[in-house]
Amino acid sequence: MPDKFGIAIHGGAGTITKMSMSKEMEAAYRTKLSESITVGYEILSNKGRALDAVQAAVMIMEDSELFNAGKGAVFTHEGRNEQDASIIDGSTLECGAVAAVMRVKNPIKLARQILSESEHVLLSGEGAERFAQLHNLELVDADYFYTERRWNQLQKSIEREKKSESDYSQLDHTPDDKHGTVGAVARDAQGNLAAATSSGGMTNKKFGRIGDSPIIGAGTYANNKTCAVSTTGHGEYFMRGVCAYDVSALMEYKGMRLQQATDLVIAGLSEHGGTGGMIAIDRNGNIAMPMNTPGMYRAQMSNDGLMEVKIYDGE
Ligand code: ASP
Repeated sequence: MPDKFGIAIHGGAGTITKMSMSKEMEAAYRTKLSESITVGYEILSNKGRALDAVQAAVMIMEDSELFNAGKGAVFTHEGRNEQDASIIDGSTLECGAVAAVMRVKNPIKLARQILSESEHVLLSGEGAERFAQLHNLELVDADYFYTERRWNQLQKSIEREKKSESDYSQLDHTPDDKHGTVGAVARDAQGNLAAATSSGGMTNKKFGRIGDSPIIGAGTYANNKTCAVSTTGHGEYFMRGVCAYDVSALMEYKGMRLQQATDLVIAGLSEHGGTGGMIAIDRNGNIAMPMNTPGMYRAQMSNDGLMEVKIYDGE
């Protein structure tokens, strides 16, 4: 199917249940997910590149307060927003990634700039921001990332930490806080695959903690030979399992189909106590979106006319 194209996106996985969600919030999420996937899909339907489609879809979610990326990023223990992102072109394996940036409005745009303009793959902190400045990317004051909801989430997390007297950083989609990292995967009409992920990481994270989102192979991977993958959930487990690459490896070396490979990787995650989900598309345009959590904000759209927006298990 040389001209079959499609895109899938996620906005985080976790304890997201219909019972705990107001009608207004649910509608807001569905609207934003539809907007994001439509923007990516239009690029693909105009014969655009998968790489451009995943970047554009992720940027829509970075600019929304709803998700833990860009504008809606969670706070670190010190009350900062340190963001991670990565993007990969499955046709060349060229990739770009950023970790712990604090002033970049759209971390995925910076990751893309690193992919195309830098000899390196992963830049971090101040150095990454200097690179952003040099390439005229938009930098913003810390205030831009302040949202009351995220601030309250940090205060709650610190409270819990005091009670348990242990190090306590939390996913932003634990029972109280159910909004997450964003990502996109696509196959364009030329048969090229791409993946992108962007995240504020975990609430109350410390010591410069960096998650799986900027780690190629853990949070993000694409290879035209197999598939494109973006993950969300407890990053440490995705790093230990090299989960995004593992899906590709199972397909390449064991001849597994996408659904089988993604299900197996999520089963492995569960075995080790990790929670989360992933979105993936294969070189034939098949899509899989497994998770071991009650919900994951997600959507998919292909040129066979299918568009689906889902939040909970099955709907
Ligand atoms: N995977 C991200 C991290 O661990 C968090 C998330 O997906 O919500 O940084």
